[in-house]
Amino acid sequence: MSLAVGSTIGILGGGQLGQMLAVAAGRLGYRTAFLEPDPLAPAASFSRQIQAAFDDEDAIFQLESLAQVITLEFENVPAPTLEGLERPLRPAAAICRLASDRRLEKKALEQAGLPVAPYRVLDPQDDDLVLQRALSELGSGLLKTATLGYDGHGQARVSDLAELREALGRQGPSVLEQEVPFTRELSVQVARNPSGQVALSGVIENLHEGGILRRSHYPPQASPQVQERARELARRLANAWSLEGLLTLELFELPDGSLLVNELAPRVHNSGHLSLDGGGFSQFEIQIRAVCDLPLLDFAPEREVFMINLLGWPSPEQEPDLAALLRLPGTHLHLYGKRWRPLRKLGHVNVTGPQAAEIAAEVSALLR
Ligand code: AMP
Repeated sequence: MSLAVGSTIGILGGGQLGQMLAVAAGRLGYRTAFLEPDPLAPAASFSRQIQAAFDDEDAIFQLESLAQVITLEFENVPAPTLEGLERPLRPAAAICRLASDRRLEKKALEQAGLPVAPYRVLDPQDDDLVLQRALSELGSGLLKTATLGYDGHGQARVSDLAELREALGRQGPSVLEQEVPFTRELSVQVARNPSGQVALSGVIENLHEGGILRRSHYPPQASPQVQERARELARRLANAWSLEGLLTLELFELPDGSLLVNELAPRVHNSGHLSLDGGGFSQFEIQIRAVCDLPLLDFAPEREVFMINLLGWPSPEQEPDLAALLRLPGTHLHLYGKRWRPLRKLGHVNVTGPQAAEIAAEVSALLR
């Protein structure tokens, strides 16, 4: 049953994703309240903040007394908080838990029949024989921390036992993943509402540098068949897990056109920011619709759109010329109101229009 207009949606986390979810909820006639410890939370410009730690029981009680349903913009909320909620959590705690631990995530993906890169779960206690076997079976690979990794943090490329031992000691329990020769990185989103209706996004092409997303583009260069397969994987997962809410799948396309799932997010995603200005529904509106059990429709952008992340510049005096950027036709600047820190995600620029590719290149150059 749809959530009544005027009800409140609780959001766990108050970063830029929470900010944009709050805007989308407000446009549909809902109020929002969010739990977030950061006193400078971007979502505070549009939503009511409960400023406390994610395991603060009084704060959770307060959130639940305001909200009729809870969603999230940040998956690393402690499991006891997620599991102890009395209001419906969308996506469910079990899905959020999977997405916050690579070991569980990969196993669950395999069980649902989705392909992942070959991997081994490793622990600092494992002896050299185990580590050596993993290396010889996988070849050199990426050691990714099991929990709390993001934007290339908690990740190391390792090619011999000494490197693996050192990185494992530093990172703690991790997954060693074979390095795959992908031709493209793609993402796709799927939303499903409690009534069982499913909606898919367009397939987005992503460019990362140093593990951080720099730029996304719709439509992707991938063939229509590859895009259809990506959407099919997302649909299969949403149905297998009886998803309520929105999930993002990050994928690798291999030279033969096959796909591997790299990772999942149980929420809107940085790559999906281009949906704000590409026409059609935004990922934020779709997550809100799914959470509120409103009707869902597929949400591919209606026109070509590029998204370029505005990352914290290397030093304060290298601040980019945002006025020059705003003068470029077809640019849509989104700033999150966050304090500068090198490489921190401070905003993004969407570029549309007849000259989109050229202007996107200019924007990328201005934001270097
Ligand atoms: P992740 O934190 O897992 O999203 O990884 C960040 C980025 O590192 C990805 O977007 C890829 O560019 C790269 N990467 C991650 N895993 C692999 C892999 N198994 N093989 C090759 N590149 C990878």
